Amino acid sequence: MKSLSLLGSTGSIGIQTLEVLRAEPESWDVVALGVGRSASKLLEQAREFQPQMVVVADPEMVSELQADLPGIQVASGSEALVEAAAMGEVVVNAVVGFAGLPVTLAALEAGRRLALANKESLIAAGPLVQRARQTFGAELLPVDSEHCAIHQCLRANSRADIDHFNTDVNTDTDVNTERVARIVLTASGGPFRGCTTEELATVTVQSALSHPTWEMGAKITVDSSTLMNKGLEVIEANELFGVDFERIEVVVHPQSVVHSMVEYTDGATVAQLSMPDMRLCIGYALAYPDRITTPFGQINWQTLGRLEFESPNTELFPCLELAYEAGRLGGTAPALLNAANEVAVQAFLDEQIRWMEIPHVLQDVLDSYDGTAADSLGAVMQVDRQARMQAERIVTTMSAS
Ligand code: MG
Repeated sequence: MKSLSLLGSTGSIGIQTLEVLRAEPESWDVVALGVGRSASKLLEQAREFQPQMVVVADPEMVSELQADLPGIQVASGSEALVEAAAMGEVVVNAVVGFAGLPVTLAALEAGRRLALANKESLIAAGPLVQRARQTFGAELLPVDSEHCAIHQCLRANSRADIDHFNTDVNTDTDVNTERVARIVLTASGGPFRGCTTEELATVTVQSALSHPTWEMGAKITVDSSTLMNKGLEVIEANELFGVDFERIEVVVHPQSVVHSMVEYTDGATVAQLSMPDMRLCIGYALAYPDRITTPFGQINWQTLGRLEFESPNTELFPCLELAYEAGRLGGTAPALLNAANEVAVQAFLDEQIRWMEIPHVLQDVLDSYDGTAADSLGAVMQVDRQARMQAERIVTTMSAS
């Protein structure tokens, strides 16, 4: 049995992680839970899983929760978060947004297996995460469905048998990109696939929040309606697998059954298929190189029907190209884009700006990139703060007009 820290336990991925743990009760022991904003949900989870430690976002919640959870340490603040992240042999980072960065760094620097559902930390602070990833024992397993698929497809070209006697390498060598011609990321296209400019001009919060194939949190659902989610995933793929942007392609696949593909130099394409179910990806990241024994997302081939593929419309969905641009610029450009996007999405959810204005906020902030390197946490956090302030100013100007 392995100890496990789950941070972001009351969000969509957190809840599904607990479903996987319930299905495989012999494999993992929850030692830390937390950072949920929903105290009642967190209390319920802590009572069921009996962790050693619970971390809450709001310090005012500590004493109240502590009274309800005798024998469990209840804490708040960034130090508690870092402590909780280093506690488990396996750490699931399901925190939403840039706030997940300290968890990512703490888990890797403690030499843990990190199951990463927080793509923002990898995008905003790629070089820092890469450095932390070099820590002895540290492993980074993506929980995002596309990257989980790519990870599986890359194992089709595994050099594990060759490297078997080389004790210097960790299990990451199971994932070999040497003969990769390109990575093909699939995108569902979101709720507005095929819409006209006129239709996109009148998009409401409610319509942006109704995703056709995946049930996810609000931020990522809006990101997926603008294709920004796919853009962030392109940067994420570059960071995770070290494949350059010229060899990462996006194709729209409305059924979300093919979760991504890898084409090899001999022309062969390897794909991973399943019904959309994040529990499969979570279980994969936890159990790798083994697999869990509970099936999630099995396909019924008799009723599956048609699988379609088409090009993304980058004119109506410019966020995808903006992400490629930020990724190629490197340095803190992805951090700028990510911060601007978090502000723009929140402003859209608060009905301050229109859906079609989201990419304008991102473009304006990205245009101000001055070549700052992402070489320290301080530098990244400062860029993040400045980009948020700039994006907020742009939003205010937009909502006033
Ligand atoms: Mg995804």
